[in-house]
Amino acid sequence: MISAQTKPDVPVFALPYTPSLDVPSMDKSVDPCVNFYRYACGTWIKNNPIPPDQARWNVYAKLQEDNERFLWGILEEASSSSPDRNLVQREIGDFFHACMDEASVERAGAAPLRAGLDQIAALKSVRDLSEFLAQQHLELGGGRMLFGFGSSQDYGDSTRVIAFLYAGGLGLPDRDYYTKTDAKSQETRQKYAAHLQKMFELLGDSPRTAALNAKIVLDIETDLATASLTRVEKRDPYKLYHKLSPAQVQKLAPSFGWQKYFRASGAPSSAAVNVTEPEFFSRLEAELKAKSLADWKTYLRWHLVRSEAPYLSSAFVEANFDFYNKYLRGVQEMQPRWKRCVRYVDRYLGEALGQVFVAKTFGPDGKQRTLEMTKQIESAMESEIGKLPWMSEATKQKAREKLHAVANKIGYPDQWRDYSSITIVRDDFAGNVRRAAIFESKRQLAKIGKPVDRGEWQMTPPTVNAYYDAQMNDINFPAGVLQPPLFDPKMDDAPNYGNTGATIGHELTHGFDDEGRQFDAKGNLRDWWTKQDGEEFTQRASCISDQYSQYTVVDDIKINGKLTLGEDVADLGGTLLAYIAWKTATEGKDLKPIDGLTPDQRFFVGMAQWACGDERPESKRANAITNPHSPEEYRINGVVSNMGEFTGAFACKEGQPMVRVSACRVW
Ligand SMILES: [Zn+2]
Repeated sequence: MISAQTKPDVPVFALPYTPSLDVPSMDKSVDPCVNFYRYACGTWIKNNPIPPDQARWNVYAKLQEDNERFLWGILEEASSSSPDRNLVQREIGDFFHACMDEASVERAGAAPLRAGLDQIAALKSVRDLSEFLAQQHLELGGGRMLFGFGSSQDYGDSTRVIAFLYAGGLGLPDRDYYTKTDAKSQETRQKYAAHLQKMFELLGDSPRTAALNAKIVLDIETDLATASLTRVEKRDPYKLYHKLSPAQVQKLAPSFGWQKYFRASGAPSSAAVNVTEPEFFSRLEAELKAKSLADWKTYLRWHLVRSEAPYLSSAFVEANFDFYNKYLRGVQEMQPRWKRCVRYVDRYLGEALGQVFVAKTFGPDGKQRTLEMTKQIESAMESEIGKLPWMSEATKQKAREKLHAVANKIGYPDQWRDYSSITIVRDDFAGNVRRAAIFESKRQLAKIGKPVDRGEWQMTPPTVNAYYDAQMNDINFPAGVLQPPLFDPKMDDAPNYGNTGATIGHELTHGFDDEGRQFDAKGNLRDWWTKQDGEEFTQRASCISDQYSQYTVVDDIKINGKLTLGEDVADLGGTLLAYIAWKTATEGKDLKPIDGLTPDQRFFVGMAQWACGDERPESKRANAITNPHSPEEYRINGVVSNMGEFTGAFACKEGQPMVRVSACRVW
């Protein structure tokens, strides 16, 4: 595979350095009061065209790729057959070796599907589905075939882990793809049907049978999609909270053998199962009755090959790429194998790979500095809560309680996951993936009935991202996101607060966005707001969703402001908190302009430059449906145009695009 990147395609053994504020990346020919994002990022965008193997390209994606190239170096070393390797090196090295061994993967062809296909062929009745699905759900991860089964904290009691049944079973990225009637959506369904046909042909069906089978799958999935909640509906946790006994689950969909399913999954018995979407399971019951065993076999064959395709020979990998990446996301060429293999090691053995990454990149001082900044941002939030004109003292007290209870997790877990029970073989890639997937599924199910592990992370250490978890009430910053150009110890405070500070503020604000605010200090779904304060919040949040709903994503598609509300509230709140924290931290210091930018200007340019980037139109279209984040340009311009601090920093005038007449503010 030829890659058109400017960098040579080789592993690196040290991470490159990019400053957190890069003046040459700006485009000073743009007026910051007209389009601040273009002003801060214009030259970056010009100099960093989207690589052919990417759907979108931005500072985060670039840093992620730098990390991956560095992980490649780690994995190259670990994949030697040297007897000196320790356990972790053997695990990640052998997994990587098997993935990179293209000849073995090619030779295996479709063989890794054989056992699953034989089991499908052997099904004698719809009743038989339960045991087969239990096994497949362990092997493929939840949500692939028909529905998902796993574990999570009880919304009503965050100290308990209970079983969860989720809606699932779709091959397109969202239920909306099946229900929308516009021309583009119809085209997408046609392309999807063609892809289904292609995959059935790869499984050996004649073109005629494959085309009929494609229609059967599309029919079943469309029925399931119409019974699934929209992404906006799923932002309401009450809509996802239906605790049932196993007997009630059986009543909901009696044609499915739930007892057998639960037993075969190996999950500890659970008195309560949260069925996130009961409507979906009612529809599933109707489908089980309406469709023939032969139709179900067709549906299952598709989902088996869909799930396994990335790990099979090139015919499957390419067909899968052509539809999901090329057509749906506009990606021009497949990622080189090393990149895919690094990602699979990260996905399946992330805390083993992460250990080595952290040891080489993230010292205790990195952890300490981030912790200090987090504390400053938390105290900025505390003082801002005190000043909110619209909130009663009673609700403020509860908000402070919640804020004080937030746990800060920085860099990497205190305890590393032990993968030693997984058999990893140097020349069996698909087998390694299957065994690692089973390990993970079983690990999730084993949590049922056990105390919550508050030290657990949902992102691996090299990940360039961060998250807030409402039920844990914690904020999590992997080591991967705490390095230049996002956090840059060599740079002055202003851009660091603007960039990483605003990210910390963003995650913290998630605890208080439209979704997060519904959980209390302990992570329980419980309304701690007075009625009046709740209404005041909703009104201020609508200001934001109305603002973002005006922005065009691509062609005639606008942002779905109700889908992106939580992220947009967090972006604005996070930037405000970081600004206040920065002012407090530098109080009394004589800050000087640098490179022609005042300290305030440096804060805002630093804040904008995390988001420099571009995205293919196809990817924008897909993200408008599936991504709760607004496009980068609006994540910057939407925020600064609500901030008087920004207007002041750049002396913008009323009437200019970056000055909104009635600015929104929540936190
Ligand atoms: Zn967020």
